[in-house]
Order: sequence, then C-alpha cells, then structure tokens
Amino acid sequence: MSRSICSMVLLCAGIGIAAHAADSAPTEAVKINDSVYMAPAAGNVYLVKTPAGNVVIDTALADQAPNAKKLLDAVSDAPVKYIILTHGHADHIGGISLWKEPGTQIIAQRNYVEFVNYVSRLAGFFGPRNAAAFNRPAPEVGRWAGNFGGKIDPTIFFDEKYQFTLGGVEFDLFSTPGETPDHLTVWIPAYKAAFIGDNYSGIGIPEPNSFPNLYAIRGTKPRWALDWIKSLDTVLQLKPEIVLNGHGDPIFGHQEITRRLTRYRDAIQYVHDETVKGMNSGKDVFTLMQEIKLPGSYDLSQVFGKVSWSVRGIYDGYAGWYDMNPASMYELPPSSVYPDLVRLAGGPEAITRLALEKVEAGKPVEALHLTDVVLASDQKNNAALNARIKALEYLQKACDNYVEEGWLEYGIAKAKQTLAQAN
Ligand SMILES: [Zn+2]
Repeated sequence: MSRSICSMVLLCAGIGIAAHAADSAPTEAVKINDSVYMAPAAGNVYLVKTPAGNVVIDTALADQAPNAKKLLDAVSDAPVKYIILTHGHADHIGGISLWKEPGTQIIAQRNYVEFVNYVSRLAGFFGPRNAAAFNRPAPEVGRWAGNFGGKIDPTIFFDEKYQFTLGGVEFDLFSTPGETPDHLTVWIPAYKAAFIGDNYSGIGIPEPNSFPNLYAIRGTKPRWALDWIKSLDTVLQLKPEIVLNGHGDPIFGHQEITRRLTRYRDAIQYVHDETVKGMNSGKDVFTLMQEIKLPGSYDLSQVFGKVSWSVRGIYDGYAGWYDMNPASMYELPPSSVYPDLVRLAGGPEAITRLALEKVEAGKPVEALHLTDVVLASDQKNNAALNARIKALEYLQKACDNYVEEGWLEYGIAKAKQTLAQAN
C-alpha cells in the first residue's frame, strides 16, 4: 500500500508528516453548506459562520495550520468568537494561536487537561517512538516540563454537555470519548451536522474503510472500546444528515451515515466482546490475538487499525501486565538467558541458520525471535542482522497496514545501520 494513500489515515494518530502538506496543499476551502466550510488538512479545520461571528472547529497540525487559515480567511474575515477542539491530538490543536483573537473563547472537554499533560509529561518517551514509527527525525526534547506542564489553551471546559448560541445558531457539545478520552462532538441542530473528530476516520480513501486503532502501538493509554461504542451511539441518536470528520471527506445522508457508523460500532463491539469472552474462558492474550478475526460481513480493512493489536489493547487495558506465570513476576526478562542458549547451541551459527530456515518456511516472526536470542549477547553479529533483515523484508511484503509498515521500515533501517557500523 502506498504511504500517500494512507497518510491521511495515519494522521488520525495525531502525528503529522511534514511533507504531506507540501505535497498536496489544498488551494480552496470546501463549502459544506451556506454557513459551514472545511479546510482539508491533517486534521481538517472547519469554519461555521453566524451573523454574530465565526466558530472554528479544530485547527490542524502546526505546519498545515497557516494554509488552512488562509483558505478559510478567504471565506470570511468576521471575528472568531469560539474555537472548539474535538480533542487534544497535535493535528487538531496546532493552529490555535493563529485563530485566537482578544475575546475568543476556546472550548474543550475537561479530560483535555490531563490528556495534554500526559503527552507533555512523557514527551521524552514519545518523541523517539513517534519518530521511529513515522520515519522522521526525532524532535528536540527540552527540559522535563513536570507532571502538569502541558500548554492548556482552552478557556471553557465541560464534563458531559455544553450548549451555546451565537448569532441565533445553537451549538450543542457532547462528551464522546473514543480515540482519546477528551473527544467531543459538536452538533448544530439547524444543519443536522455533527463534527465528530477522529471517532470515525478514513473517509476519503476507497472503501472498505479501516478498523480503528483501539490501541496505538507507538504508545497510548487504553482507548476504551465500550466508551467508543457509546459515543458512536450518541452521534447516531442525533440522526445527523452531515458527519464531519477530523480526517477525510464529510459523509452526507442519514442512511449512509447510519450504515457506516453502525458497521464501525458493531465491529468494535465484536472485537471487544470476543476478547472478553476469551479472557473469561482463561485464554492468554497471544491465543486471542491469533484466534479473533473480524467476520467479512463487517467489510472493514485493517490498513490503519489492526484487530490483533486491538485485542491485546483491550486485554492488557483490562488486565495489566501479569500473565500468571511466576517467572513474569520478577525483574529479569526472558532475554536474560539468551546468551546461555547461544552457548548451549555451540555459538550463534546454529541459531542464525535456524532463523534463515524459518524465513524460508514462511515463519518470519519466529525468525525474529531467534535473531533476538543471538543479538542479545552480540548486537553486531553480521549473520544474525542479515537474517533479521530478511525476516523483516518478508513481513514487509505481506504487510497491508500503514503503522506496521512504518515499524518494519524502522527495524530494517536500524539493522542496516548496525551492520554498517560493524563493518
Ligand atoms: Zn487526527
């Protein structure tokens, strides 16, 4: 799958690719109706005109925000009375300062505060992981900002619901946790329009759409499936005629909106419930990752979210890390005995040979585990690094998930770099 097709989907993760904007910067805003306009970006920026001033919904990634602002400035230069943030991911809050005027109110759901603090608290942890996953330079991480050092721009917070009227247009805001705990939905009854952030994503790429990332492997807190399901129900109950997403094109028509959101919701429910049933019957997480498959009737791809990662996200989200194996209670990981296994095998050659046989036999993950055994005591072992690259390239050929693709590329680049340093 090409990276460009999926960059839009990827950006739901809140992680931008700087090149994306330059490649395909849109040149004009999209008119949704006489009062609502969209600047396509990662993520999309919406402008709602009212007789008493404008409301901006989301502000895009910082490097795409100026273009989005330019497109929407061409639509209206009336004062910005409110900025509403559907959630605190970087690709939705990067342009706040461009839109904020004296007197502009900025609204977010209350969990925004902890979410932004959490991202800031762990900036040094997330920086290299995001860089690795998306093949971009690691950001400079400054001094630790402390536990509560995030930049909090909103001036109005709400828990469950918030309502205001501007220029005779009513805006209803609902807490709809899903991709993040602070997700909100903006509902404008007059237009039957719901702005739902990233709780449904991928519109704009060909059908079938992708299953969501119920867990993002770059590192995230659990994205609670049952909350997400309830939030999709909240949107469905509004009976919208227009759904406006953080990424991709709007969905029009009650019937089409219902079809898409229901399918998405039911798929999340299926994966959640199968995981819970498996946990209750005593199955371990790896067994369930292998066993649980999305029935074809849901007609969703896995180009962005992977079912197996979601199963593990749900399992570990509910249960934490202990697997009932006494060996797991202690500080020493399995890799602590890998050097002993290499010695028992008479050196790294036999294990590396077996790794190559595994690749040949179509078992590249087993090959990776075997190269881990060798590389634990000899990080620069040429043969093991080459076997590892072969296994990763094998996986890459079969890969149709954008996030997985990024991590495989990272693994290959890292192994090649080690090889180059060793020789
Ligand atoms: Zn997003």
